Amino acid sequence: MSIPTSVLEELLHALPLLRTQIYFKSSLTALSHAMEDQVLAGADRALVIACFQRERFYRQEAHRYRRISNKTDQVYVLAAPETEFQNSSQIQEAIAFEPDDGLAKEWHLVVLAPNYSTCLVCREKEGAVVKPSELQSMDQSRRFEGIWTFDRQVSSTVARLLLERVRVYRPELEEKIERAIATYRLSESDKALEAAARFQDVDPGPFVQRLVTYLQAGQHKLVKTYRSIAAQERRERLVNSITTAIRQSLNPADIFQVAVRELGGALDVCRCLIYRCKATDQEAAIAYEFLGRSVKSLTGEVWPLQENPLFQEVVASGERVAVENIRTDSRITGSKRLMTLVQEWEIQSWLMVPVLYQNQLVGMVELHHCGCEYREWDAEELTMVEAIATQVGVATLQAEAYANLGDLNEQLAALDRTRSNLIAITGHELRTPLSTIQVCLESLASDPDMPPELRQVMLSTALDDAERMRTLVQDFLTLSRLESGRVEWNTEALPLHECLSLAISSVRTRTNPEAAALPTLILEVPEDLPLVRADGEWLVEVLSKLIDNACKFTPSGGKVTILAQTRGDRELEVKVADTGRGISRDRLETVFDRFYQEEGALRRSTGGTGLGLAICRQIVTGWGGQIWAKSGGKDCGSQFHFTIPIAPDSASEVTPNPSPRSKSKSSKGDRSSGSSRNRRTPIG
Ligand code: ADP
Repeated sequence: MSIPTSVLEELLHALPLLRTQIYFKSSLTALSHAMEDQVLAGADRALVIACFQRERFYRQEAHRYRRISNKTDQVYVLAAPETEFQNSSQIQEAIAFEPDDGLAKEWHLVVLAPNYSTCLVCREKEGAVVKPSELQSMDQSRRFEGIWTFDRQVSSTVARLLLERVRVYRPELEEKIERAIATYRLSESDKALEAAARFQDVDPGPFVQRLVTYLQAGQHKLVKTYRSIAAQERRERLVNSITTAIRQSLNPADIFQVAVRELGGALDVCRCLIYRCKATDQEAAIAYEFLGRSVKSLTGEVWPLQENPLFQEVVASGERVAVENIRTDSRITGSKRLMTLVQEWEIQSWLMVPVLYQNQLVGMVELHHCGCEYREWDAEELTMVEAIATQVGVATLQAEAYANLGDLNEQLAALDRTRSNLIAITGHELRTPLSTIQVCLESLASDPDMPPELRQVMLSTALDDAERMRTLVQDFLTLSRLESGRVEWNTEALPLHECLSLAISSVRTRTNPEAAALPTLILEVPEDLPLVRADGEWLVEVLSKLIDNACKFTPSGGKVTILAQTRGDRELEVKVADTGRGISRDRLETVFDRFYQEEGALRRSTGGTGLGLAICRQIVTGWGGQIWAKSGGKDCGSQFHFTIPIAPDSASEVTPNPSPRSKSKSSKGDRSSGSSRNRRTPIG
């Protein structure tokens, strides 16, 4: 059952001369506590009626009411239940009213003893009612309207009104209520009460004392809160200024430098270090340091990490480690290594704060206090160093991300250059022969009377250029197949001589008989070489390209030597050496890049696509070998080396006449190989 009417209204109706005033929640709390304490401090058996708006407000005071109930058996506690509050008579009389009852908006407390009385009757101001979720933050600003007084007549009236309600909610308490009315003379007329009031022997001492204590405690709390707000504000300002300084740069070195300087200066420490490290690092090189006093610098020193138990502790816990006094800290006194370090670097107090990213250690902030006195790291300082460590972590990662972006941009630019190069080469390589072919064919078509010799020249020029175009297209396709991994490797045990013969024949076949003669070709290949394990077609391709290049870049009078020898018992090393124009040292690796040509695509006289060595590298790495170039420099000749795996169980075996599958275009033609068995055989 719920009664919608207000007890305050009923009181004002009963005593129309009363005037209400406004109270903040904190004042009502102070008054209530003082009233309760008066009961606890006194020896009288008082009547206590407390009406809480909600069960949770009662729960905060439940222990006090248990103590009050030990003093008197006339205690009535009313509240709107939320979880477990219900009608009961166990410790005191608990009276649960409905949440929509008029009492749910009111706060009452009446204390009536034979020689004193107080009451507090208040109603929460309309509009000030807040949602439960907002209660915490809004709590102190809640306002109530009502009356607080020592007046016995008013207190008795309020007690009577409240007991009348209790009688409705819990009729079974009839007898107890009657006893209260009789004991505390609540049924007496107002006149009689007034007369009694004149003789009441009120001792306000305990009440006033409690009120003052309560107000002092409140004041103390307030001062503490102000202090902590001021400290937090100071800390935030400092962290902000350091963060701004750190974030102004995208260079990790600047970030570390600024952070170490600002943090060391703000905390007035003797030494502040920031360094990068991983959990597994043995040591760190110190590059960023702030020195506050005349202490030894650690810059340039190697700072031990794995040998440092404090570092290990930070790694294990992922949290800061603070040592206030190295003399009394067992972690230091128990470690010889740490004792040496603190003595050498005069450390008295030590703080290590990890710089973490996604729970991984990426760096460390260290603060050292040096000298004779130790330093206590207060909570505010610790929070600040941690905040800076977090900022350093974020800023460093941002800087790294930016640097990666730079790398990516460079890669994109390189890709773009390659693309332009490709367009230039294909443009030149395809357009030039195409125009030549076109001119030749047009001339042949438009001039039927052309002399036969000229006709022959025209035809062979057109054919040569068609061949150049075919080579370029073929190299493109080959390289793209190799690069995309779309190549099927038909690996088998092969004799190197056979492949060499095929490669040399292919070079000869391709050589224009009217062009300058090839340089002298010399084979220095032992006869008893073991079989190699490779795809014959691709091996011939590599050999032909290397021999072709050697002939191309060596004048007619020069020499091209092909050598082969075992390298350990697992590999053969093949070398194609020439006495030609050579390669400058800084280009020895670049020559393997796609489209690399020393004289540039458009000024080439030797033909070629710039794809040959790129193709060779793809093939050789495909069978797990290596390829590299050597040269003494300009006009000192070049040597191209590559390795091929030896076929298992064939280390000393020589197969008499197995030949590689001759499906390669370069493998067609003359396959004479007798000469390749010679120890040192000039060919041609
Ligand atoms: P290309 O079709 O231009 O020969 P390659 O990839 O085979 O393409 O060679 C790339 C470049 O490496 C050549 O253009 C040349 O500048 C250089 N090069 C290759 N082999 C030799 C060599 N034996 N002597 C001197 N330079 C060479």
